[in-house]
Amino acid sequence: MGRKYFLETYGCQMNYHDSERLSGLLESDGYERTDTEAQADVIVINTCSVREKAEDKLYTRLGELRELAAETGADPVIAVTGCVAQQEGERLLKRDSSIDVIVGTHALKSLPALVRTARSRRGAAVDISPYEDVSFPLGVARHSDPVRAWVTIIEGCNEYCSFCVVPYTRGHERMRPVAQILDEVRAAVETGRREVQLLGQIVNHYQAPDDPSCDFAELLTRVSHVPGIERVRFASPHPRHVTERLIAAIRDLPAVCKHLHLPVQSGSNRVLKNMRRRYTRESYLELVARLRDAVPAIALSTDIIVGFPGESDADFDLTLDLVARARYHSMFSFKYSPRPNTLAIKRLADDVTEAGKTHRIVALQDLQKRIQMAHFADMVGQTVPVLVEAISRRSVEELSGRTSGNTVINFPGDAALIGRLVPVSITGFGPNSLKGQLDIRPDGGARAH
Ligand code: SAM
Repeated sequence: MGRKYFLETYGCQMNYHDSERLSGLLESDGYERTDTEAQADVIVINTCSVREKAEDKLYTRLGELRELAAETGADPVIAVTGCVAQQEGERLLKRDSSIDVIVGTHALKSLPALVRTARSRRGAAVDISPYEDVSFPLGVARHSDPVRAWVTIIEGCNEYCSFCVVPYTRGHERMRPVAQILDEVRAAVETGRREVQLLGQIVNHYQAPDDPSCDFAELLTRVSHVPGIERVRFASPHPRHVTERLIAAIRDLPAVCKHLHLPVQSGSNRVLKNMRRRYTRESYLELVARLRDAVPAIALSTDIIVGFPGESDADFDLTLDLVARARYHSMFSFKYSPRPNTLAIKRLADDVTEAGKTHRIVALQDLQKRIQMAHFADMVGQTVPVLVEAISRRSVEELSGRTSGNTVINFPGDAALIGRLVPVSITGFGPNSLKGQLDIRPDGGARAH
């Protein structure tokens, strides 16, 4: 019987894409994936440390795996990879002696060799070296989505926002050569992918190391011109690096989705300054106005942290006010969580109580819900292009896809449409998604987008 691996991922899209790479590396080394921990010869936990809760998940999970091993007598190799591995390194071994392998964010490619070392029981195998090389062999990553491919364009981050652990867990910013990125996009199309999502911590800071004329807007142009690409998305941009050229690219390139994730974090200039975000609420709102002026149909989404050190009721009211003005289509909101090594944990007291953070996040989410419902109601009656992604989670008779603005829409249809861009008229909505009907011409063809 072949050897099997079980892999679990916490965190952001970057981590999920790293897991696709780790899967590909293990499969190239002869392993087969299993969804049952008890059957696995190797268990990989790809971790996130952006908030304390995400980090705690690792320790809870290791406890569960220890219990499982005690019940079944199995003795799989346990590998911890990703941001917590990079941050904690060998300290993890002291905390939990069941760990055999530790692979940092720069060292993914070492996983198969380290697993081999651990299997031969020559002690724990650790690699958290800060490698500069950002290449990854073509065709190895196992794309988990049949329609969309994630493609990393930048590793690491140089922003050093005071709350954020990423520069410490993923290292300084390293750009991938545009030639490698385009090879990966072409390979994704050849294996049936229709959408590509470009990934980087500050994705719009891209500058090709192999071509001085290729900034992020130019990269979007080149990627969207790869034959067979229907849609291009990217995550996550930083508001201070949104250029006129990027706005024009979103406006002018048909394949580039009319959606921008624009993390604001707070609506108070005092808090933004302490967060080291390097924009003001005024400049941010002015950017929102310029984007809507250039691309009236653009859908904006954001990230907000509540309860950052020193955030007063008045500061929080400014966040609510900004959200009401920006009218986001969707939002991710988080309670501030002090993270190791960051400027905020060193210099600022975590002085908003847990109850205060809860009160604020509930108020923020209530406001956002109302704004989102108003957007959904406005969209009813429109016919929009939808990239069909899968059978809907709600019913096997329904398909699920996304609008250009990144809203999920469910509608009745045949699974043969998965991977196609089809026109769908919006007929209604639920709390988190739209409902629709395929808008097919009388001759049976779908209307063009
Ligand atoms: N660089 C990416 C970006 O700007 O979107 C990803 C950063 S992180 C994975 C995603 C979000 O987590 C951030 O935008 C921020 O809102 C939130 N976040 C980061 N550090 C945090 C912390 N210490 N406490 C609470 N939320 C945090």
